[in-house]
Amino acid sequence: MFPFPKDPATFFFDFDSTLYAGESLDEILSLALDGKPWKENTKQEIEKIMIQGVNGEIDLKTSITQRMKLVPLDKALVEKYGQIKMNFPKEVVGLIQLLLAKKHQVYILSNGFLEWILPFSQIFGLSENKIIANRILWDSFGFATGLEPHLIHTPNGKKKVIEELKNQGKTRGKIFMVGDSKADQNAKGKKNKGQIFEGADFFVAWQIYVQRPLEEGVDYWVKSLSDLILNPSMPNPL
Ligand SMILES: [Mg+2]
Repeated sequence: MFPFPKDPATFFFDFDSTLYAGESLDEILSLALDGKPWKENTKQEIEKIMIQGVNGEIDLKTSITQRMKLVPLDKALVEKYGQIKMNFPKEVVGLIQLLLAKKHQVYILSNGFLEWILPFSQIFGLSENKIIANRILWDSFGFATGLEPHLIHTPNGKKKVIEELKNQGKTRGKIFMVGDSKADQNAKGKKNKGQIFEGADFFVAWQIYVQRPLEEGVDYWVKSLSDLILNPSMPNPL
């Protein structure tokens, strides 16, 4: 079940395969391959590299830049993709709206790209300063050459970003990291010298769309959309 704490807390949501059912970078690269005879082979290659990244077999920056090298990506296509209406289940939208209404803080913490997460985030009522994601680095011809430097795509990037926001006073209460992969799970700090935690306090494994391998120690499991609905008859452990 999704945790609904009584006191104001901070929730960091992964985007791809969590808030959104798909992998947005792979979708846009697939769009760029439309009409090309090598589309299917390249798509398989892209998926392989994506999975290596989310499972921690290669670092995330390498996973992202390797995928971007396979397909030239131009600004016009990125803008077009940002205007496609992504569908989010009403339970997912309702969850974010409920958390905001209950005075929790909500961030999107993603190794996807601000260029298209920002337009989609409006449906959740989140402002740009609540979205932490990569930005595309463009060449003078309007083609993507990689990504701007950011803590998020460095090793343990999500944990480092959470730590930074915590130190800046931009979080409140307990911190929950919600996501589908080990990269999200790594944002939860391990017990340090008995007392001090770094990163998120809890990890919520979101397995509505995909079931990826995770380490032991998951605090909450979300396995279906009905797990997202606040049920007042359920005892709340928090
Ligand atoms: Mg994900």
